[in-house]
Amino acid sequence: MTKNKGNDLYYISLNSMKRKEVQTMSRVFNFSAGPAVLPEEVLREAADEMLDYKGSGMSVMEMSHRSKVYDNIIKEAEKDLRELMNIPDNYKVLFLQGGASQQFSAVPMNLMKKGKAGYIVTGQWAKKALAEAKRYGDAVELASSADKTFSYIPDCSDLPITDDMDYVYICENNTIYGTKYKELPNTKGVDLVADVSSCFLSEPVDVTKYAVIYGGVQKNIGPAGVVIAIIREDLITDDCLEGTPTMLKYKTQADADSLYNTPPCYGIYICGKVFKWIKKMGGLSAMKEHNEKKAKILYDFLDESKMFKGTVVPKDRSLMNVPFVTGDKDLDAKFVEEATKAGFVNLKGHRTVGGMRASIYNAMPIEGVEKLVEFMKEFEKRN
Ligand SMILES: *Cc1c(COP(=O)(O)O)cnc(C)c1O
Repeated sequence: MTKNKGNDLYYISLNSMKRKEVQTMSRVFNFSAGPAVLPEEVLREAADEMLDYKGSGMSVMEMSHRSKVYDNIIKEAEKDLRELMNIPDNYKVLFLQGGASQQFSAVPMNLMKKGKAGYIVTGQWAKKALAEAKRYGDAVELASSADKTFSYIPDCSDLPITDDMDYVYICENNTIYGTKYKELPNTKGVDLVADVSSCFLSEPVDVTKYAVIYGGVQKNIGPAGVVIAIIREDLITDDCLEGTPTMLKYKTQADADSLYNTPPCYGIYICGKVFKWIKKMGGLSAMKEHNEKKAKILYDFLDESKMFKGTVVPKDRSLMNVPFVTGDKDLDAKFVEEATKAGFVNLKGHRTVGGMRASIYNAMPIEGVEKLVEFMKEFEKRN
């Protein structure tokens, strides 16, 4: 292969960057809810491959999505995801764009064949999904935890679900409020659709219990710009609501193996690397163990602290997003400010809730949570 001579220049500056990095690079503990922390190993690997992906002479950002090299990347990503989640053959895996929010419309457009669906409202994201579905059909609120600021998951053992509903919709982990379904709702035989954006790949999952699982990857898997949708095949048909855009039809995307148009190529490539990282770490049961251990450190401290309190009922606590408050707005602000200075960043709670929130996704090391708790203890003593 003839290499562009100009590349030498880049290699020289890359080398000097590497040297500089050794001296000055310091990564913070990033508790952002999303886009969020990614495994450092993955970022380093991507950096190494930035200028020349496996001898192709170009970055993954620069290559055709129709090339053989890229085809391998997307196929391997799908294969690894299927292995990790043990996805049965009668489910399609789609790599899409438009964010999780676009699925708020795509789900009813593709699935509301009888014109009716039930929604369980456990926070802002479920609320938005319900509002969007109402534009397309009879979307019914089956239950809600709005009465207590979404601090719990409603009892879903006997909801008013009827046969004429096309699906029941949940947001499985509530990123803003820090709640998680520990048990899936009893849907009385109706198909279940779940937004799993903030708990994707955080623990083992039985895919067969769902009709559709989807999530934006920017919380726990990769960079913003990719949504993964896992859809039972019999639901992928041409029979969508009238006026459904070609791009939003699951069938369009499934028939083209997610390559109907240019997919978010680079994002999918990073997702693929994260899948491999999770496999190397021992898969989803190892992730669960790691996440439980991590979350326990923080929750145990919140339960014993006189200053900091968790806001969620213990039985519904998320392993991924941990909101907490001091009960005093000024003290909350002081804490966030001092924590930031100490290298614990993005701890401010969502604008609709206030207080603090620590998002402790797969890639957050245990050390990050241990050090945060040390810092909180020390802050409590001083204030
Ligand atoms: C972040 C988030 C969304 C919105 O994701 P976008 O990709 O920004 O549209 C939806 N649902 C959940 C559970 C989220 O955490």
